[in-house]
Amino acid sequence: MASGKQHDNATCFWCLPFCLFLSLIAGLANGLIGGLAFAIGGLWLSPDLDTRSKALKRWGPFKGLWWPYRKLIPHRSLFSHGPLIGTGLRLVYLMSWTALLLMLLQPFGFPTLVSVTKVFKEQVGLNLQPILSLLLGLEASAWLHLILDRDPLPAEWHRWRHR
Ligand SMILES: [Zn+2]
Repeated sequence: MASGKQHDNATCFWCLPFCLFLSLIAGLANGLIGGLAFAIGGLWLSPDLDTRSKALKRWGPFKGLWWPYRKLIPHRSLFSHGPLIGTGLRLVYLMSWTALLLMLLQPFGFPTLVSVTKVFKEQVGLNLQPILSLLLGLEASAWLHLILDRDPLPAEWHRWRHR
């Protein structure tokens, strides 16, 4: 299993090649979005948010947001280190916090959750390629993490296999 420093170094090393590759197949703007998402995915939205990690420390005063996540999800489980599932769950988790924040701020004149959801859906429809690039960047960084851990299969698989 790679250390936090090794994960960070690999994220920084592979960010540019990923960005260039995506630029070649999807255009410069999408390549830049995907490259940025790759860096954010590796440094801030790492599968290791399920434990006290360097990625968690980067959240600074907001690292408490990940406390429920760490308590609910065992380290290296399918729900944090599973391909697609891990990234998807972290995004849903962040969106849940955003929804809660919007509901709390609504009495103070902030946009409602319904209006933000409507704008979000419209933007997804209008900007499908950039959003796909963003998701691809986040998921690619998660795959890099899993490969560096030298075991892309989640802990549940091994527990099930060794029964
Ligand atoms: Zn890990």
